[in-house]
Amino acid sequence: MAHHRKYIIKIASGTVIYALGIVWHPNNVYISLAVFLLAYIIVGGDVLLRAVRNIFHGEVFDENFLMSIATIGAFAIGEYTEGVAVMLFYQIGRLLQNYAVSKSRESIAALMDIRPDYANVRRDNGDIERVAPDSIAVGDIIVIKPGEKIPLDSTVIEGTSTIDTSALTGESLPRDVGVGDELLSGCININGVITARVIKEFGESTVSKVLDLVENASTKKSNSENFITKFARYYTPAVVITAALLALLPPIFIAGESFSEWVYRALIFLVISCPCALVISIPLSFFGGIGGASRQGILVKGSNYLEALAYAETVVFDKTGTLTKGEFNVTSVTPHGISENELLELVAHAEGYSSHPISQSLIKVYGGQVDLSRVSDVESVPGRGIIARVDGMQIAAGNESLMEMLGISYHAHPGGSVGTVVYVAIDMVYAGSILISDEIKNDAKKAINELRGAGVRETVMLTGDTDVIGGRVAGELGIDKVYTGLLPDGKVARLEELIKEKSPRGKLIFIGDGINDAPVLARADIGIAMGGLGSDAAIEAADIVIMTDEPSKVGAAIKISKKTLRIVKVNIAIALGTKGAVLIFGAAGFASMWAAVFADVGVAIITILNASRMLLVKAKR
Ligand code: ADP
Ligand code: MG
Repeated sequence: MAHHRKYIIKIASGTVIYALGIVWHPNNVYISLAVFLLAYIIVGGDVLLRAVRNIFHGEVFDENFLMSIATIGAFAIGEYTEGVAVMLFYQIGRLLQNYAVSKSRESIAALMDIRPDYANVRRDNGDIERVAPDSIAVGDIIVIKPGEKIPLDSTVIEGTSTIDTSALTGESLPRDVGVGDELLSGCININGVITARVIKEFGESTVSKVLDLVENASTKKSNSENFITKFARYYTPAVVITAALLALLPPIFIAGESFSEWVYRALIFLVISCPCALVISIPLSFFGGIGGASRQGILVKGSNYLEALAYAETVVFDKTGTLTKGEFNVTSVTPHGISENELLELVAHAEGYSSHPISQSLIKVYGGQVDLSRVSDVESVPGRGIIARVDGMQIAAGNESLMEMLGISYHAHPGGSVGTVVYVAIDMVYAGSILISDEIKNDAKKAINELRGAGVRETVMLTGDTDVIGGRVAGELGIDKVYTGLLPDGKVARLEELIKEKSPRGKLIFIGDGINDAPVLARADIGIAMGGLGSDAAIEAADIVIMTDEPSKVGAAIKISKKTLRIVKVNIAIALGTKGAVLIFGAAGFASMWAAVFADVGVAIITILNASRMLLVKAKR
């Protein structure tokens, strides 16, 4: 604001001197020149300075340069009042633009107002102290009062409350939490007082990751932005050369034409050729799109990804944890030469270190405390299962293909067609099987339908699971193609083929939970990670993160992308159309320099207002 005030004072005092010059109207040319020159320098001195400085930096043809020669030219042909006026309008326009841009940046910053200012830490003696969140260590105990932001990712140890997660997820329904539940930093505690144990330090907490993502998003430029930079590089010099020809050729070759008339027309050319409307409004549109998406719990890591979404042609899903909940219920346990409890206990321990949804579910079903000191030599076999030593015994737990890999003969689980079977072997001897089944996410079907509505040509599912399960899930959801029994490298190979099959312009999106599929996430044109609320690896590898784990957010993201691109295209058309018209009128002598300035400033403001519509994208209620 202080910056704006300085600007306003400068423009106001320049205007006063300018008005004085017009009212007084000195007869002496030199006095008149001196007065208007003074006004000119007060108003436009910084533009001249920047023009000179940029020439030394090798950026000759920028808007400062154009405004400088246009106005100096006006002075040179004796049009002092017009020279000052053009500079005045240009500066007023810039002031309005800066104001609009900083307003929209502020509103994005407000959207992202999730950074906690403090944390209440409970000391060993019971004292509660208010400290900076980044001074807190893992294991510290914090107290969160009603209305406060959750400062660090933590687990509830006392109390119950309702949590508003909307800032992170766009999800308006508050979530109830109690002892044992995990709290994500950045959410707001609505009613109860809760005490929680910190599980991640501030820099590693969700709130820091989300802020990093959004702040760095604008460094990755979209093609539209790169196009404008390139465009300005050719467009501006072309206009300057045309202006020079316009000023020189007609007076030389056409009898009776005066230099001053044609120089004047050439100057209009220069004023109108400023590409500032595009240069400011296009990045602002993307910025707004990214902000709007993050309000719905969709974090986009760069303008380039937001742009690419609009061209989505093939959408590839992982199954477990992406289309299905990844929360398995145990349907039946068939122990073999061991008790059911012992079997579950050994398996839960073998799976103790793994974050795979199957592991988590098996641990939950066991119910007892997993003592990791009993576990050693853990080897996870992606797409197959896990091998680990528990109490000195080697435990292998996984699918048929794990058993076959180890050469262990097993009994097919009775009724194995309804769910995923985990086969277990102890010291290479078959010890039974556990039938678990997963559920399809509530919005999965809607997600697939929406994609079709958004112009996606093909939906595909890749899974490490069996034909039966994969086929059933795909059939239920209406997915076009399904590939089953894939190991992680098989998924990459499949993806490569799908990339070859699509059209060159179309983009391939892969959506996974980041467990066993980080390579595919990285290989796709656009990698979207589920489990934004959990897995760190996924947040790192993906281009877009869906905080709510809802596959239907993919369709929403494509819609935001298309809307952003529509606004960008309209802006390009408005700017180029108006400028083209004024260029022609100016060259033909029908437009004054005033018209040129009005057109330039007006177009900039219209396009910026249009771009800020992107900020109005509402979180879905
Ligand atoms: P998806 O491709 O559906 O996400 P994964 O590639 O993660 O599945 O796993 C494929 C299959 O490998 C699972 O369906 C399961 O049979 C087996 N599997 C993978 N990890 C484990 C594990 N930790 N414990 C038991 N079985 C596992
Ligand atoms: Mg998976």
